[in-house]
Amino acid sequence: MQEQSVDLVIIGAGTAGISAFKEASKVTKKIILIDHGPLGTTCARVGCMPSKTLLQVADYFHDRTHFSDLGIEGANQLQINIPHVMEHVRNLRDYFTSGTIKYLESLGENFIQGNAEFIDQQTIQVNNKKITSKAIIIATGSSSIIPAEWSSFKDEVLITENFFEQTNFSQKIAVIGGGAVGIELGQALSRLGIEIELFHSHEFISALTDPIVNACAVKIFTQEFPLHLNTIATVEKNKTDFTVKSADHAFSAEQIVAALGRHVNTESLNLKKLNLKFDKSGIPLYDRTTMQIEKLPLYIAGDVGKFRPLLHEAADEGRIAGYNAVRDKSSCFTRRTPLSIIFSQPNIASVGQSFEDLQNSKIVIGEVSFEDQGRARILSQNQGILRIYADKQTGKLLGAEMIAPQGEHIAHLLAHGIQQNMTTFDMLRMPFYHPTIEEGMRTALRHAASQVKTRHDSLDLAMCDSEAISNLC
Ligand SMILES: Cc1cc2nc3c(=O)[nH]c(=O)nc-3n(C[C@H](O)[C@H](O)[C@H](O)COP(=O)(O)OP(=O)(O)OC[C@H]3O[C@@H](n4cnc5c(N)ncnc54)[C@H](O)[C@@H]3O)c2cc1C
Repeated sequence: MQEQSVDLVIIGAGTAGISAFKEASKVTKKIILIDHGPLGTTCARVGCMPSKTLLQVADYFHDRTHFSDLGIEGANQLQINIPHVMEHVRNLRDYFTSGTIKYLESLGENFIQGNAEFIDQQTIQVNNKKITSKAIIIATGSSSIIPAEWSSFKDEVLITENFFEQTNFSQKIAVIGGGAVGIELGQALSRLGIEIELFHSHEFISALTDPIVNACAVKIFTQEFPLHLNTIATVEKNKTDFTVKSADHAFSAEQIVAALGRHVNTESLNLKKLNLKFDKSGIPLYDRTTMQIEKLPLYIAGDVGKFRPLLHEAADEGRIAGYNAVRDKSSCFTRRTPLSIIFSQPNIASVGQSFEDLQNSKIVIGEVSFEDQGRARILSQNQGILRIYADKQTGKLLGAEMIAPQGEHIAHLLAHGIQQNMTTFDMLRMPFYHPTIEEGMRTALRHAASQVKTRHDSLDLAMCDSEAISNLC
């Protein structure tokens, strides 16, 4: 067996691993990045990018349903060619993954394709090579869960890893799971003209915790496809189809999509050898501000750590781990304001602290419905609700949940405001163009501001210093 000694080994060349590599390379070139493949990152290959591409096509096709109201005739002649749609999704997916694959190829001997396994806390085996390293970063990501009861037909279950490889879909599909992936894929399939039914074990869909926003979201999606909530669905495989049963309903589906969450990719790493302390999900205990595992030369980054499994967080964690792993002492880094967006139509988003997090806090809630909002009506997207949470005493912005047209943009503005410690009054002093969806956010901010104990800025404008005015005159 070959032997090599380096400063850093990174296991996993996804977003977190590559970010770690780029950060650590500023200090040392003695780094080995390992990935067993398929290469290209979860985000670009089977995650964020192909799912958004499919949703975009589905949304364009769905728009035909209101064209006649706007005076655009002949929309009922439009047809969808699903094999062509899927080819388009894969073409764009290949475009997105090719950049990463080229980058990994450019790393030469610093990149090894193979399965990495721990021998001890500072030694890794990959292919026929033993690598001793001063530090190791685990950035192995996560994979879709298929329940053990489905093992006899697991190869027929659609999961994100095989979903975008499909050249066509059946006409009746059950989506099991109403989290981000289930809602996005379910709505995309439905808008492509497939009959879907969605089963979800909770009352709240996706990451929502605010009952009013959730009720609005459920009402909106129910207009497009049946949602069976708060129910554990069972799946039976028949000769040619599946029967999906909930407490009071049975659906005969030709295909099923499992959107039941993701398990962390640690099985093949042999972590048991390392004498670590683990949490309930089997993840080594680590510090989220340093990404260090205990006080060891071991770091974790990205979805494998299960803390906010999102692309921008994986990139941040990779950078933090990469920065610390090549230094004598780990530094702490402040994490960004929580921000999560689901690209359904309307978008679902949560920002900062959730409604649930704030249960025991003294807050005011500013609310706006998008049913009568000007720009939303122009866009024929006048559905949804935004609820902003602010401190009752000061008006400091704390969080928000929404299902809103172009909610992705509102969510960013609010996240930036929260991270800057802004109050509702500070936000209201910012400019708002007309007619925009952001004006809807302003209505919710004004509603929150009107309930804050110490009110000020009745015009939403800061008053000038009177001396400065007289000087100007
Ligand atoms: C359908 C879907 C939609 C999503 N949409 C969004 C979105 O819109 N916005 C958003 O922010 N996030 C989204 N996400 C989440 C986002 O994709 C992830 O947070 C991000 O890709 C995680 O990156 P990572 O580096 O942790 O993992 P990955 O990119 O999965 O990288 C892990 C790598 O480790 C390798 N590996 C695993 N075990 C080993 C081993 N033993 N040896 C060697 N290599 C190994 C794997 O091959 C893989 O390449 C979505 C995810 C999915 C599934």
